[in-house]
Amino acid sequence: MRRIDLHTHSLLSDGELLPSELARRAERLGHEAIAITDHVDLSNIDLVVPRLAKVAGELNRYLEARVVPGAELTHVPVKSMQRLVKLARRLGAELVLVHGETIVEPVHEGTNDAALACSDVDILAHPGFLTPEQADKAREADIYLELTSRRGHCIANGWVARIAMESRAKLLVNTDAHSPEELLTLEEAMRVAKGAGLGEEAAAKAVGENPKQLLRRL
Ligand SMILES: [Zn+2]
Ligand SMILES: [Zn+2]
Repeated sequence: MRRIDLHTHSLLSDGELLPSELARRAERLGHEAIAITDHVDLSNIDLVVPRLAKVAGELNRYLEARVVPGAELTHVPVKSMQRLVKLARRLGAELVLVHGETIVEPVHEGTNDAALACSDVDILAHPGFLTPEQADKAREADIYLELTSRRGHCIANGWVARIAMESRAKLLVNTDAHSPEELLTLEEAMRVAKGAGLGEEAAAKAVGENPKQLLRRL
């Protein structure tokens, strides 16, 4: 089992590093794969996504770690969600995340539901006070729910883990890294999963099997 992180930011949004350095840092940390999922809305989606797709294509020829070009739809109006998800795909995003209703930002109410209604969404990031109905919907739509090591967003991890486990929705552990020191080793990611209340087996699933399964379907 090797580390797979499917939520990170480069300086194409508000991260610190170029995609190439971020990918290299992840490779040196032993990652099997890293998705670069910069923040997008309608102002920058056409600038960011094709460039991530371009550099990922180049890096994947020379790096051992797989680099996945993605996008995180962030604070977009609920009514725009569907259109922007489709646009992100069309522009070359292999992985589409929606910035969920974290309890530390004024994300539009209804964002979790709007994301879960789009079959093209892969991950609902930091969903905050996820409801059992939303977890059921995630399971049915095969959308992964995120446990995060990111400060602030991680406050609701225990809640998300419990509700997701009760619904048998799929969990994974991402960093939402904006700087290189925020990337995690496999052991550290396991601690995040266990800290959220998952047992050994469920934690291994969230850190290993589930992200691997998601990678395979891209
Ligand atoms: Zn950010
Ligand atoms: Zn993020």
